Amino acid sequence: MNLDHLKNEAQNTSCIDWAERQGWAITKRGNDRFGPCPLCGGTDRFAINISKNVWLCRQCDVGGDVIKLVQHMEGLDYKSALERITGRKAAEPIDPAREAELKAQAEQDRLARERVANRYRQDQIRSARRIMNLARLPKPGGPVEAYLRKRGLDKLADTIAQGRFKILLREIERFERKIPVKNGGKVEWITIDECPVMVGEIIKPNDDLDAVHMTFLDPTTPKGKREKADPNTGNPLPSKIMKGSKKSGAIRLYTPSAPTRLVVGEGIETTLTALQEAYQPNTAYWCGADLGNMAGAAGEDENGKRCNHLPDLNDDEAFVPPAWCKELVLLRDGDSDSKKTDNQLQRCGRRAMALRPGLVAKIANAADGKDFNDMLVEGAE
Ligand SMILES: [Zn+2]
Repeated sequence: MNLDHLKNEAQNTSCIDWAERQGWAITKRGNDRFGPCPLCGGTDRFAINISKNVWLCRQCDVGGDVIKLVQHMEGLDYKSALERITGRKAAEPIDPAREAELKAQAEQDRLARERVANRYRQDQIRSARRIMNLARLPKPGGPVEAYLRKRGLDKLADTIAQGRFKILLREIERFERKIPVKNGGKVEWITIDECPVMVGEIIKPNDDLDAVHMTFLDPTTPKGKREKADPNTGNPLPSKIMKGSKKSGAIRLYTPSAPTRLVVGEGIETTLTALQEAYQPNTAYWCGADLGNMAGAAGEDENGKRCNHLPDLNDDEAFVPPAWCKELVLLRDGDSDSKKTDNQLQRCGRRAMALRPGLVAKIANAADGKDFNDMLVEGAE
């Protein structure tokens, strides 16, 4: 049976429409919506990208279009998923007028989604730039120097103390953290915290600065990061956030004048630990901001089967090292989900090797269950 008609009809339903129709708990704003996976739970591991109209569960490590979504969540075969989405049996004849109407509606919905996503993205980039305007080079005796010492990064902290900036980080000495609170029908932004912030610029391959990484600091806590509860929910607020459009970007913590090797870690502290403890000449040390950004989309093998360790080379928003990079070293923290982390690093390394002929990619491991910075801090005790 030819299912093409039914497939086209099913694809008129977007992933987000399906998710909302099922009543899944998912965030309401932005181009990337998050929530628990309807299948495996969690809090934010299930994501839908509105403009691309695709979804992904980081835990199930499965994603795709709306058909794949229904197949995965309901355990249906391809044909049953098409019937479930369209509410029509595959054998039923199609009314061409109705088909055209659905198609036109779907196109309108798609354009509306794109407009919303674009507006949100522009808002995010504006707020990232606002934060960059507030941020200054770290001052001797300032919050970033103190934070680096707390994390065992004394040699790097010394470069700040001595006023010779080796690493590209910035700080805001006093930042007002605000969150939206619903008050009757209105949303008000209230200040819930004031604290120093370490700011990392997330720079794109074309040198555009469209995103920032913020770490909220508190010298009195064991890890030096601010611990604060959300007054609405009582849940802990994140101690680090990113704002803006980080896709394909990196925090270029340290870049020498003629680099040939690039070391990339997921976190700022991990990457700085490698810079301090295992410095090599002609080597740049960049933070990839998050593993998803470093990994990009998963691709298919020669038989068209999706493989999580293979990159989708058509994903033009994934991180790719610059043309000067001949050797890429990916730092693998031992404290993250092992199989998934392996796949993501494999994708990153394989994409780099495919797109930069002659480049060699390697993965460097931290001890099991630790990140590089844990090892450093423990080693110092
Ligand atoms: Zn899942």
